Formats: sequence, structure tokens, C-alpha cells
Amino acid sequence: MHVAFVLDGEVVSEYHVGDQQPFTERPVLANSFVLPVPDTEAHEAFVRVQTSSSVRVPLYIWQESDFHAAQGPLNVAVGLYFGVLICMVVYNLFGYVVTREPSFFSYSIYVIFTGLLMAALSGVGFRYLWPEFLWMQERAIVLFGGLAFVFASIFITQLMNLRSNGIRWHQGLVALGVGAAIISICSVLLPYSVTIRMLLGFAIIACSYVMVLGAAMWIRGMMHAQIFMLAWITFLASILFNSLAYLGILDGQFIQRYAIMIGSGIEVLLLSWVVTLMYSAERTQKIAAQDEALAQAFVAQEAQRQLNEELEVRVAERTQALEDVTARLQVANSELEQKSREDGLTRVFNRRYFNEQLQHVFHQAQEEGKPLSIVMVDIDHFKPLNDAYGHLIGDDVLIAFAKRLQETASRPTDFVCRYGGEEFAVVLPDTDAEAAKRVAERLQDAIRKRPFASKAGPLQVTASFGVATTTVEKPAHSALVLLKAADDALYRAKSKGRDQVIRVTVNADA
Ligand code: GH3
Ligand code: MG
Ligand code: MG
Repeated sequence: MHVAFVLDGEVVSEYHVGDQQPFTERPVLANSFVLPVPDTEAHEAFVRVQTSSSVRVPLYIWQESDFHAAQGPLNVAVGLYFGVLICMVVYNLFGYVVTREPSFFSYSIYVIFTGLLMAALSGVGFRYLWPEFLWMQERAIVLFGGLAFVFASIFITQLMNLRSNGIRWHQGLVALGVGAAIISICSVLLPYSVTIRMLLGFAIIACSYVMVLGAAMWIRGMMHAQIFMLAWITFLASILFNSLAYLGILDGQFIQRYAIMIGSGIEVLLLSWVVTLMYSAERTQKIAAQDEALAQAFVAQEAQRQLNEELEVRVAERTQALEDVTARLQVANSELEQKSREDGLTRVFNRRYFNEQLQHVFHQAQEEGKPLSIVMVDIDHFKPLNDAYGHLIGDDVLIAFAKRLQETASRPTDFVCRYGGEEFAVVLPDTDAEAAKRVAERLQDAIRKRPFASKAGPLQVTASFGVATTTVEKPAHSALVLLKAADDALYRAKSKGRDQVIRVTVNADA
């Protein structure tokens, strides 16, 4: 702007002021262009204005004292505004350091750029921050405005936690952030007249989008979305007012200079409130979720414990049942084993057991070098007895006969077997030929001594005995040889007239 004061056709004083000039070269150091009027009676003033964008040139003539008096309250208001902004930045940075909640940080950066934008708009920036830096003065509004929007979109994304809520709005915010970044870059590359229009248009779109987003969040039941919306409505309204004033549609220098400042001041305060509320709501939710999880874990643990207890009881029951079955099975098995070696009628050992056991005691005798004897016993004339009294009576006699054999061959190692029909074998381990003969005679006596009880009354029988012995001196080659020898002896006893004991030593007679 070129101003010339002319008196009587002669230029009295002349000033060049504008954004192309360092702040310190202004004739009066004020945020707006203030020029001293020459102290003379009558003047003509010529004003030439040149701008690359739009400009309004309202002219005021002040008394110097009035001008300074009017500046006072305005300066206080501007100071208050920046004071609030600085407090918000410091407070939220502290918040970030303490909580590590990223929205505190992005909010602080957003407020810093908003502050710089307002400093540029109000002239405070040029006056105090970059008075000699014309390059910056030309670009500050668009550059800081763009950056403020970049961080606004980052901050809103983090605040609303949109991505993790899986909400499409997130993409719109990313687009806004990218748009704002492009405008910031353009502010450096393109002329101010172009970029300021871009920024204003973008600001209106961005604020509207964010407002609608706030409304959507509100409908979705997000807490505090109303305050969020209110913040952006305030800011948007202030931008609209400012734009209207800037374009000349609304009148008023005050609106043009301070509307955005008031709007953004309120916005910054409301947003700070939202950040804190959201953070505390999230924390409350987290704590509640933790409590819930803890309670669930406790319930699960308790259920597990009960299950374990029940399981233990059931395992114990099953184990007990299994033990019972096993015990019964053992009893049954031993009964079965007992039965399998027992003769069904006489209850002495059977032929099968005799065969097994004879091999066993034979080898044992061989290993230990001890004698082993067998006595073969056959009841005399049993067939006539059967014929006379019948088989059942014959059975009675067989039972009693076997019992007496068992009672008489009483050493623990001795055992009596029913060899077949009315023939028995008495096995005498560790018994030499002499001793075996004595045992056979004892058996003979026991049989002779008293008759056998039967249902037909007591019946007397006699028996013949064949004794064979194997010793170290006169060993039998096998158990069968020994058996055969005893059998031969029995045969001889029968043929010699029955009711007698015949003894053989294996080798001698084999
Ligand atoms: P010996 O003096 O020659 O031995 O004459 P014995 O009649 O005893 O001999 P024999 O071998 O001719 O007859 C055996 C008889 O034993 C035949 C059968 O009637 C009887 N006998 C065999 N087993 C049983 C049995 O389990 N019960 C009964 N009641 N009799 C049996
Ligand atoms: Mg017989
Ligand atoms: Mg016989």
C-alpha cells in the first residue's frame, strides 16, 4: 500500500506499507497498518493498494491517544487467547507424558499449529515471531492452517479410535489429512492468492465433514460426541463468518480480525475437555473389562476346581470298583486253578497235576542230589465191590480211601494224586527207598485198620502198593522211568496175591 499526503499540490509525506515489508520498518509498530497523519490543517490523501488476493481497505482516522486506548483491551484479549493456547499445549503434553495416550500428543501439536495460524492471521506472528522473515509472513496463514488440519485429522482419528472401531469414516479423515498436507506444500510453491482460497474452501469442507462425523458418532452412542461436535461447529461458524467478512459479504473489521480467534479459542477448550473425558471413559471401561475378565477367570478356576474334585471322586470310585473286580477275579482265578488241578470226585490232585508236578519234583531231586520215591496204590478187587453195591457206594469208598491216603502221607512236601479209576499215586520227595517202604506200609496199615464209611455202611477194602525210588547212587533216567518202575512193582504186588508192598530200585530192575 502506497499512501501520499498532499498539501497544495505538494507531497508532504509518503509511506509504503504492506506484507512485503519487514514489520520493523512500519512507521507505527501495530498489527494493522497505522500511519501518522501530518499535523497540518488540510490534506489530500492518495492511497494506492495492490494485492494478489482480495482486500478490504476500511480507513479510520484516530486521535493518537484514542488509538492507543482502543488497542489496550484488544491486546489483553489477544494475550488471553494465546495464554489459553499455551496452557492447553503444556497441559496436554503433560497428559501425554503421564498417560502415553497418543491423542494428547497429537492434540497438543494441533493446538500449536492453530496458535501459529492465529498468530499469522492477527499479525501477532509478524510482530513478535517473524518480524524480518517476509517469506514466512507471505505463507504463514496457509502453511500453518494446512498443518493444523493435518494434525487435526491425526488427532481425531486417534481420539475416536476409528480404525479399531472398523468405521469407514476413517478413510475420509485420511483423505482430509492428505489434502491438508498438499495445501501445506502448495503454500510454499504457489502464490498466496491461490493457496488462501484453497485453504478456506478446504477448511469449510473439513469442518463440515468432522461435524457430520461427530453427529454420526453421537448417533452411534459414542460418549461426548456432542461436545466434540459443538467444538467444530464453533470453529466452522467462525471460519464462515471470517470468510464472509473477508469476501465482503459481512461487514465488520472486528469479525474479520477476531471471529476465528474466538471460535478457535472455544474449540480448543472444548476439544481439550473431550480428550480428557474420552481418556477417562476409556480408562473406566478398561478397568471394568479387567474386573470382568478377573471375575470370569475366577469363575472358570472355581468350575475347574469343582470338576477336578468330581473327577477325583469318580476316579477313586472307579479304582475301588476295579480293585473289587480284580480281587474277585483273583479269587475266581485261584479257585479255578485249584479246580484245574483237583480231582472232581476225591478232591486229591488229578492226573494232569500229577504229570506236571512229577516232572518238577524229579528235576528238583536231580539238582539237589536228593532221593525221590513214588508209591502206586491200587484198590484190590474193586470191581466186585462196585458190582455188589453199585457205583455210588463205590464212589463213597473212593472218596474216603483218598482222604485216608492224604492223612497218612503227611509230610508237607508229600502229595496224593488220583492216577485213574481206583488207582492213586503218592509222591514222596526227599524220601529214600527204605523210608518210602515204611510210608507204603503205614498206608497199608491205615487202610487195613478200619473200614470206609459209605451209604451202605462201613466197607473194608485192601490195596496193593508198588514203590520205586530214584537216588544219586541209583538214578532213574527220567520221571517216566521211575513211574514205570513203580507201576511194575504194583503189578508184581497184585500177582503175588495183593494186599502187600513191593519195592524196586530203578536200575536194578529197569
Ligand atoms: P484188582 O484187584 O485186580 O485191581 O481188581 P479190580 O476189580 O480192582 O480191578 P479192575 O481194574 O478190573 O477194576 C477196576 C474197577 O474199578 C472198575 C470199575 O468198576 C471201578 N472203578 C474205576 N473207577 C471208578 C469210579 O470212579 N467209581 C467207581 N464207583 N468205580 C470205579
Ligand atoms: Mg483194582
Ligand atoms: Mg485198577
